[in-house]
Amino acid sequence: MCGIIGIMGTGKASSELYNGLFAIQHRGQNGAGMYVNDGKESRIHKGPGLVGEVFSKSILDYLEGNRGLGHVRYPTIGSDTSRDAQPFVIYEPMEIGMVHNGNIVNIDQLSKEFDLELRSECDLEVILNIFSRFLKEEGDLSEDSLFSAVGNTMDVLNGSYSVVAMLPGIGMLFFRDPHAIRPMVYGGKISLDGTSYAVASENIVLDILGYEIIRDVRGGEAILVKEDKTVVKRQVRAMKPKHCMFEWVYFARTDSTIEKTNVYESRLRLGKELAKEWKKKKRGLDVIVPVPDTARTYALAMAEELDVPFREGLLRNRYIGRTFIMPDQTSRETAVRTKLNPIIEEVKGKRVGLVDDSIVRGTTSKKLVELMRRAGAREVHFFIGSPPIISPCYYGVDMPTKHELIASHSTVKEICEQIGADSLTYQSLEGLMDGLQRKIENLCTACLNEDYPTQVREDIRQYYADKREEQRKDALAEQSASVI
Ligand code: AMP
Repeated sequence: MCGIIGIMGTGKASSELYNGLFAIQHRGQNGAGMYVNDGKESRIHKGPGLVGEVFSKSILDYLEGNRGLGHVRYPTIGSDTSRDAQPFVIYEPMEIGMVHNGNIVNIDQLSKEFDLELRSECDLEVILNIFSRFLKEEGDLSEDSLFSAVGNTMDVLNGSYSVVAMLPGIGMLFFRDPHAIRPMVYGGKISLDGTSYAVASENIVLDILGYEIIRDVRGGEAILVKEDKTVVKRQVRAMKPKHCMFEWVYFARTDSTIEKTNVYESRLRLGKELAKEWKKKKRGLDVIVPVPDTARTYALAMAEELDVPFREGLLRNRYIGRTFIMPDQTSRETAVRTKLNPIIEEVKGKRVGLVDDSIVRGTTSKKLVELMRRAGAREVHFFIGSPPIISPCYYGVDMPTKHELIASHSTVKEICEQIGADSLTYQSLEGLMDGLQRKIENLCTACLNEDYPTQVREDIRQYYADKREEQRKDALAEQSASVI
């Protein structure tokens, strides 16, 4: 998963991009980048790290121009930030800067089919090369040719992609895969200086920058904001929407609204659904404790519905990112507690309902149950906001291979035993649909039921499994060991 922004504005684009990227930092902490154009020249800056680490005041000043692209990067398998960081630029048949969020499943096949000489492992390079190839074949740079090139690109890409391209002299072009798997929303603002348009992964970027939301970009739609700020929309391809359910469950920021469904409100409903599942078990709880941060909203609604106190029984050290390196002499226990520490007074002697958004491998849950028991919890009942994850995601959520996913080979009862909890309550598929107020046919639930919206052939699954294995071995060799 990554975060993207495109701005066709009137002021200093780098300032807006900088503030906007902070708003979607949660979508990727591995790297950040900007491409900015002043109508004549383009400048690009990208690198590893958080937004605040990659950009300084002098870099933002160097990025001159009123239009640009921004990206925060979430690493995918086998990738290297210094080489794969976005934006990417191509100069054939004209200069095109591009960013994207998602994952292209068939990059290997496409790079052979189109005989691409790639310099990175980033799937954006494949999208950009193929789009520029189709655009060149059109023979001109008219609107029709641009939309035709987008359509031809969509026909060969298999996967999820929300793409923003900057074509200096023509405008900003953005499009979303036909199933609209990854989010994308656009808006506009009118000031004394004129009209501006912005597009981003999440509406919070537009809110923060003072843009009025126009709407979500539709699956298979392409929109061109021209130099004179006229907007041309074209439904290039059409398919059933299959929005990723995990955006609401875990990934998107709590204050975002995706496809008109607010993330916070949907997590509250999901919490209520979990409470309903618990009521069927007819057991008691003394306190409900979230695993911060995502599960806080689930736990809040559960506590309300069950009339059990909600307590912050686990505190997260907010200065530790996902890149925490465990120094050699640090024990796993110390490492876990550096990141998450229990408030003993809130759990000691109590029947604790511990709430998290998902179980992937099960290693975090096991450690959390141990932590609660060591803090004196009398019973630990685990609650999970999503249904069991049984199959890998090929559309941009970093998930391990099938055999590493604990729910792919263990029943709920077995998982409960393995993590050492007194009980384990997962969200039901029906509860998920009710919580998200959507029908299952309009969501991508591939990680829950293997119903992939696009074809993911066996050789592709194997390709990803092999890459993951390679990455695991590299990580083991480095042995810098992440925490939980
Ligand atoms: P695990 O220990 O593998 O079961 O991981 C579960 C924990 O990881 C939960 O606390 C989730 O909030 C978090 N999580 C779930 N999916 C992801 C993901 N794709 N990337 C990072 N963390 C995740």
